[in-house]
Amino acid sequence: MPDLETMRHSAAHVMAAAVQHLFPGTRLGVGPAIEEGFYYDLDVPQRLTTDDLVAVEAEMARIVAGAVPFEWEELDIDAAIELFERRGENYKVELLRALQERGTTRVGAAVRPEDDVDVDPGNTRSASIYRTGDYVDLCLGPHVADTSQLGPFKLLSIAGAYWRGDEHRPQLQRIYGTVWPTAEELEQYLWRIEEAKRRDHRKLGRELKLYLFDEVAPGQPFLLPKGMAVVRALEELSRREHARRGYQEISTPSLVKSDLWEQSGHWGFYRENMFLSQVEDEQYGFKPMNCPESTIVYRSELRSYRDLPLRLAETTRLLRNERSGTLNGLLRVRQLTMDDAHIFCRTDQIRAEIGGVLEFGRAVYDMFGFPRRYYLSTRPDKALGDPELWVTAERALADALDSSGIPYELKPGEGAFYGPKIDVDIDDALGRSWQLCTIQLDFNQPERFGLEYIGEDGQPHRPVMIHRAVYGTYERFLGILVEHYAGAFPLWLAPVQAVLVPVADRHVPYAEEVAARLRAADLRTEVDARGERMQAKIRDAQLQKVPYMLVVGDKEAEAGAVAVRERSGENRGPLPLDAFLRLAQERIAAHE
Ligand SMILES: [Zn+2]
Ligand SMILES: [Zn+2]
Repeated sequence: MPDLETMRHSAAHVMAAAVQHLFPGTRLGVGPAIEEGFYYDLDVPQRLTTDDLVAVEAEMARIVAGAVPFEWEELDIDAAIELFERRGENYKVELLRALQERGTTRVGAAVRPEDDVDVDPGNTRSASIYRTGDYVDLCLGPHVADTSQLGPFKLLSIAGAYWRGDEHRPQLQRIYGTVWPTAEELEQYLWRIEEAKRRDHRKLGRELKLYLFDEVAPGQPFLLPKGMAVVRALEELSRREHARRGYQEISTPSLVKSDLWEQSGHWGFYRENMFLSQVEDEQYGFKPMNCPESTIVYRSELRSYRDLPLRLAETTRLLRNERSGTLNGLLRVRQLTMDDAHIFCRTDQIRAEIGGVLEFGRAVYDMFGFPRRYYLSTRPDKALGDPELWVTAERALADALDSSGIPYELKPGEGAFYGPKIDVDIDDALGRSWQLCTIQLDFNQPERFGLEYIGEDGQPHRPVMIHRAVYGTYERFLGILVEHYAGAFPLWLAPVQAVLVPVADRHVPYAEEVAARLRAADLRTEVDARGERMQAKIRDAQLQKVPYMLVVGDKEAEAGAVAVRERSGENRGPLPLDAFLRLAQERIAAHE
């Protein structure tokens, strides 16, 4: 069975061939395989609609049935240019000329999936060509042996795409498709994308009144009371778990003189991503991360080996100047709040500290039911610090993973220049993976800031710094949770945990009385006193995904009870108020 990437690549050729059959004169742009599918940018003589995709799929099926072989040919670059000129493929000719003249087809500095995808950069003499019947493409391959090896496919959408991403060049039509080894996997994928649309956190955020975005502050969410309630519940959990593990919380300033950023190195390589400000003729920058300032707290006292490890946690606002085109709801923002911490420790403590962070992550992710994958990234070619220290540190990370019984994948050479790291990816309910936690060892900042501790030998030594986050940022984590739960937060996280539904107006005072008792026991409770019918109130509470609806009428008021309905529609019937409260508190304590 060919691998998925090969299949996707081959499907892009078959799709382009089908479009050329149906719409003669269609010229080829580029068509790479992408995550979960493929696309092709095509210059079609007419504007395509989604109806046309049905015909394209049918033509693709015909080509697949013909078992047409993919035939490879290496042509002298001039011969390749002549071939594509003859076929009227001006875009391919442009790519080949760029390759011939510059050794690359890239435009600008941007690296996009389509850059250099069809050619071998640096090879200015020859070009790799693939033929599939009458179809000819410029491509490095590999492909399936013949078109019959293509799995079940589906074309998904059409969008406009400027040639080479340049708005001054012609606009082509980009057709997206997907292909899978089995019909079952295709079905599952199609369900996942439909479900992902339904769960889109921007849409659910509006519907559930969690947060909003306004043009006055791009990339910065306005958290509404309900969104804030979720964030507070996450914060409470985080503070408690940090305190239990010996972290101490600090808060450092947002607006900091450029001197600090120069010393930390951010000025040199991160300035473009910082918001700058002039204050009384001095240059300041809003902090994009907390690390440099945590070293000021470290240096505020003389540290001895007995003081280490020092675990400093900080959850303050950061600002990063992300380009407006890259902003994406809560998933990519300009204002972010990390559940950040920096651990300062001795080399011999690295292993135990990493073990502690791994345990922390596991305990928290278990509360959300996230399966996870671990990656260990090691020393890159250009690395800072003593090579022996690297060996010790990498071994400590690997040991910590091993002794925690955690399987991991190695990413050789992918560590940061200042130290090795562990990345933790989680899978959400739709099987999509997200990188949340990174644990980074850092030999660089302690060096730059001259951090020291006095060792047992009475001599000064350099501590190691560990950067780590568990949620990542609150903003992104909230977005991921909204999609993971499709807005139906578990009871402990739900912004409103219970809604009182009075049967008639005369039951409102009793409902208020019950609500006051529940709030006094820290249950987030609302009373729906609107003049609507009871059924309508229950439906609305269900739409707002409130875990408990408590109906109160004459019988309940008399007995000091509530009639309990769950979000799922299950009707638990009347319960004495105390019994309900106990039930709810037990579930909250268990993070249900
Ligand atoms: Zn190809
Ligand atoms: Zn840091």
